[in-house]
Amino acid sequence: MIWLIALLTLSWGLLYFKVSMAKATLIIGLLLSVYLYINGLTSTGKTLWIGFLALFIPLTVPAIRQRLISRWLFMLMKSALPPMSQTEQEALEAGNTWWDAELFSGDPDWKVLQHLPPAHLSDEEQAFIDGPVTTLCSMLNDWDITHNRKDLPKEVWNYIKKHKFCGMIIPKKYGGLEFSDHAHSEIVMKISSRSSTAAVTVMVPNSLGPAKLLLVYGTEQQKNHYLPRLATGAEIPAFALTGPLAGSDAGAIPDTGVVCYEQFAGKEQVLGIRLNWDKRYITLGPVATVLGLAFKLYDPDHLLGDKEYLGITVALIPTNTTGVSIGRRHLPLNSAFQNGPNWGKNVFIPLDWIIGGVAQVGNGWKMLVQCLTTGRAISLPALSVGGAKFACRNTGAYARIRNQFNVPIGEFEGIEEVLARMAGETYILDAARKVTNAALDQGEKPAVISAILKYELTERMRRILNDAMDIQAGSGICLGPKNYLGRLYQVIPVSITVEGANILTRTMMIFGQGAMRCHPFIQQEMAALEENNLKQFDALLFSHIGFFLHNMAASLWLGLTNAFFHTVPGNQNTKRYYQQITRLSSGFALLTDYALLTLGGALKRKERISGRFADALSNLYLCSCVLKYYQDQGNLDDEAPLMHWACQHTLYHAQQALLSLCRNLPLRPIAGLIRTLIFPLGKTIIEPNDLLIRQTARILLSESATRNRLTYGIYTNDNADDATGRIEVAFQAVLAAAPVEAKIRAAQKQKIIAKGNPILLIKEALINNVITEQEVSLLMAADKARLAAIAVDDFSPEEL
Ligand SMILES: Cc1cc2nc3c(=O)[nH]c(=O)nc-3n(C[C@H](O)[C@H](O)[C@H](O)COP(=O)(O)OP(=O)(O)OC[C@H]3O[C@@H](n4cnc5c(N)ncnc54)[C@H](O)[C@@H]3O)c2cc1C
Repeated sequence: MIWLIALLTLSWGLLYFKVSMAKATLIIGLLLSVYLYINGLTSTGKTLWIGFLALFIPLTVPAIRQRLISRWLFMLMKSALPPMSQTEQEALEAGNTWWDAELFSGDPDWKVLQHLPPAHLSDEEQAFIDGPVTTLCSMLNDWDITHNRKDLPKEVWNYIKKHKFCGMIIPKKYGGLEFSDHAHSEIVMKISSRSSTAAVTVMVPNSLGPAKLLLVYGTEQQKNHYLPRLATGAEIPAFALTGPLAGSDAGAIPDTGVVCYEQFAGKEQVLGIRLNWDKRYITLGPVATVLGLAFKLYDPDHLLGDKEYLGITVALIPTNTTGVSIGRRHLPLNSAFQNGPNWGKNVFIPLDWIIGGVAQVGNGWKMLVQCLTTGRAISLPALSVGGAKFACRNTGAYARIRNQFNVPIGEFEGIEEVLARMAGETYILDAARKVTNAALDQGEKPAVISAILKYELTERMRRILNDAMDIQAGSGICLGPKNYLGRLYQVIPVSITVEGANILTRTMMIFGQGAMRCHPFIQQEMAALEENNLKQFDALLFSHIGFFLHNMAASLWLGLTNAFFHTVPGNQNTKRYYQQITRLSSGFALLTDYALLTLGGALKRKERISGRFADALSNLYLCSCVLKYYQDQGNLDDEAPLMHWACQHTLYHAQQALLSLCRNLPLRPIAGLIRTLIFPLGKTIIEPNDLLIRQTARILLSESATRNRLTYGIYTNDNADDATGRIEVAFQAVLAAAPVEAKIRAAQKQKIIAKGNPILLIKEALINNVITEQEVSLLMAADKARLAAIAVDDFSPEEL
């Protein structure tokens, strides 16, 4: 028994410390030799030696291993390999991997994150934000835009063009602003805290669109012509991919281009493309001067080569080209950004209108997914953080201003819980935004992380705005110029739907792409299968098996010790969270291999399984960002409640996702065994407790550096006639009057004055010398500001 325990412990140690196969064989051989030496050649000894030789010789000698094991597995896996379309292949190859690959490794190398310099703004970028962006925000009246005009005012359009808001990503040599990804994100965030219509209008030309495509793939001639015009708004771009028959499955667009000769611009025989398309939902489409159009290109007369179908292609089409129809407008949930359908009927374009010219024929899909990788990580995440910060600042203040039962509603435990969730989630969102921006500015293009950001930040923003609506109650519901939340709430589904609809992004893209791109072995193994390279496949396969077994050993050790002994960065406050991420990452890696092994190609269709993997991976990523951000901020004590709430919340949800996987993966007894390996002590990670909830909620209820830091970067003002300005004014007035109200309450307790609302008892308090005349004016000012802050709009029947 002792020898058996020694053998098992040794095997576990060899796996945990990733000892090579050759060394492991030697060490186990030595142990068995010692056993033989002490016990002599007993029948157990013989059995152990035979078992050892039978197992280890084939495993250690590659030639035998390939013949006896790998060859069969090679043939099995090759036949089971699911077919992959070209569009899937190109989508998988987009961008690169970064911290996501570390999380897939089961043992993230924290140096990768530690060495990332924090995102920062240059002086020029900061000046732009303090100057033109602030001015633009002050020009925006969301109610006027969304209700009265259903468009931005002319002077706002002109200001956007004049200050090159549409040219943030365009290099200076083409007349653009050439801002960093972080600056781009900060600008969109600030504008979105004032008007989502203006934010979307600015966002789209800087995200996936003609400028981005031209920058990466355009010919020099195209760049020289279009980029300066796009930078100054002389050209308004729109990107046209979606149509009635192709939404999420954008690769299925039925729009066609046929290579042919036609008369064009006074010339008789010009080689070009005859296009027919039907697009809808196109942002900026109704005002666009140039469309970035995606279509399928055919060459039936073989004018360009042998192939008939050349693939998805993207061209720039001036909207005044003969045959182009720019239709009417869609009305996307009462938001007023320009959006609509468009069509083309037998539109002829010369070949050099293709982005990148003939060289880029058929590369359209690759171009789109490559460009989407960075754009998706910037625009909608920035818009989401803008909305989240806006809701925290204003609804938090409202919860302090608004009294019910003679108490600010923010002090009720039920509201506190919701406020804590809003503040904690906003901290997560901002951390993820800033850390990802920092990575993008260092040249990373992490495709899986960009999908995580898009999905998680828009979903969490939706929850924050739902929470804000619940707290604002009637004042959030009654629309009008005073309502600062209703329009934002209405427009949420737009960000959920565009740039990869969220259900699809969660259940198909994040883990589907992650398992292929970030897994340390899968992509290379598939390449070896494709290339019929048995030798390479054998080496990869056995490293992969070692990786799987290592994760089994590591998960058990980290689970039993709760990762207490694992060396990680961090301080007293954060160290345990780093350790928990490592622990869950190990479990995640183990379950990934188990799912791949048991489900194989069928995993592609198991979207509920894939969705849970996405939840685990996303929460681990978000928690890593929170730790990195907290550290970059200087491990500030006053920010600790936010950091704790954010880490506990994300880790808890990562744990729940892994547990849910253990309950739903095939071969139940084995899945149960794996659950025991990963969670030997059960569910050890718990959600934030009541004390932490209170500490976190309180941040939104008083004026502090922490609150200002949490909501930093959005537009604020203290104009008492403005929708949010009146909230800022009332918040300050109510806080200034709070000590006076406390005095009255204390006097009430001592029975110096009667019980009741302090505002109604001012006279009595003054007569009894409980408060001074000066304090009376503070109370009166607070009451006036409070009434203005809680007021809602009403309309005559004619106005409605
Ligand atoms: C306001 C707005 C602006 C837009 N701007 C542009 C633009 O500028 N240019 C442009 O080309 N397009 C634009 N779009 C189109 C947008 O990208 C599409 O709406 C989006 O791709 C979804 O397509 P769909 O609306 O047809 O939904 P569908 O594709 O019909 O999807 C319906 C639902 O099914 C889910 N779903 C689909 N496939 C799967 C799957 N395999 N697994 C799980 N769930 C799945 C989706 O997640 C979604 O929840 C815009 C859309 C809107 C609403």
